[in-house]
Amino acid sequence: MSNLNKTPSSNRLHISIFGKRNVGKSTLINSITGQNLAIVSDFAGTTTDPIYKAMEISPIGPCVLIDTAGIDDVGDLGELRIQKTMEVVRKTDIALITVDYDGFFEFDYNIIDILKKNNTPFIVVINKADIKKPSSEFLMELDNLKFPYINLSAQKKEKIEDMKNLIIKHSPQEFESPSILGDLIGEKDHIVLVIPIDTGMPKGRIILPQVQTMRDILDHSGIIHTCKDTELEATLDGLKNPPKLVITDSQAFEKVSAIVPNNVLLTSFSILFARYKGDLSKMIDGAKTLMSLKKGDKFLVSEACTHHVQKDDIGRYKIPKWIGEKIDTGIEFDIVAGRDYPENLKDYKLVIHCGGCTLNRKEMLGRIDISYREGVPILNYGLCIATLYGILDRALKPFPEVDQIWKQK
Ligand code: SF4
Repeated sequence: MSNLNKTPSSNRLHISIFGKRNVGKSTLINSITGQNLAIVSDFAGTTTDPIYKAMEISPIGPCVLIDTAGIDDVGDLGELRIQKTMEVVRKTDIALITVDYDGFFEFDYNIIDILKKNNTPFIVVINKADIKKPSSEFLMELDNLKFPYINLSAQKKEKIEDMKNLIIKHSPQEFESPSILGDLIGEKDHIVLVIPIDTGMPKGRIILPQVQTMRDILDHSGIIHTCKDTELEATLDGLKNPPKLVITDSQAFEKVSAIVPNNVLLTSFSILFARYKGDLSKMIDGAKTLMSLKKGDKFLVSEACTHHVQKDDIGRYKIPKWIGEKIDTGIEFDIVAGRDYPENLKDYKLVIHCGGCTLNRKEMLGRIDISYREGVPILNYGLCIATLYGILDRALKPFPEVDQIWKQK
């Protein structure tokens, strides 16, 4: 496996290919990838599930291609298809609307509507240039609408490179998440990572956010010291000078905070990822709301994947238990797990979201947007735990701008 194929899917540019049946979408995908990937079926509507394929496309880099073959339709977008389209759009960084010389149909206008509502950039790919030219009216329509477009032949592999350059040009700058902590550390800074090994840890490995943080520290020429919470004191004692930063698993926050001297910056993997994947300053609102919950209120625990649930699961058991102990008993909660995120949050006062390690930044930001639109603040597990244990003030110190917002609230 090449290094590029090891890029986590959540860090790749997500390119979705939309288009009605018979516009040559599958041939387009094959000509982009140089492989025979697309599943071509002659039966309309056999599945509504999009197909995801992680790959390296030169010169774009690591991508996930999303083939929406199952969503295309000859007529209207039914309820299920709209839902599936929304799911895809939420994780799309850039979309290709594939049409042929006949121009747009209602299906395309519907998709464009959804993309626009979601602020998702798109390019119109007019396929089959080898058969017939698009009408001048259609080209004029595209010009008037200011939609970027390209006329190409996927069959003859003509102008495919031009299309890739157009994708690069119109891709959102922020699809590459900011660095996890590159702006917080300098060369040769010592960073201590605290990783408790409890029953919730997978056997024989450490989890993705921790691995990614280590890689980011190495990329920025920092020096890593890793220990369990039980060895933290010994680790700090063994250092000639105090470390620049201590990063802990959220579940050990309270214990670690008591050990780490007050003049040393301390935060959690989860808070770093609230910033890296989402919007830490917006999640601060969630911390305020958390402390104001009362009996009869209801919060939603949202997990982005359907992982194997342990008996002491953090989202399902520990957080609701701590909320009962530290805020009020009788606060209710629901759980939602998987790639679907509810559009209707009216029953809830707050969303408590997992770290979202399987989501890309676009999708996490989309979830934050939905929550805001619904007037329901959202925060992640790490912020929630830091708030419940009264450590949030300390945990936000490494991020001065966010710390300022927090203090003003
Ligand atoms: S952080 Fe969220 S997405 Fe990652 S494993 Fe946990 S529940 Fe799944």
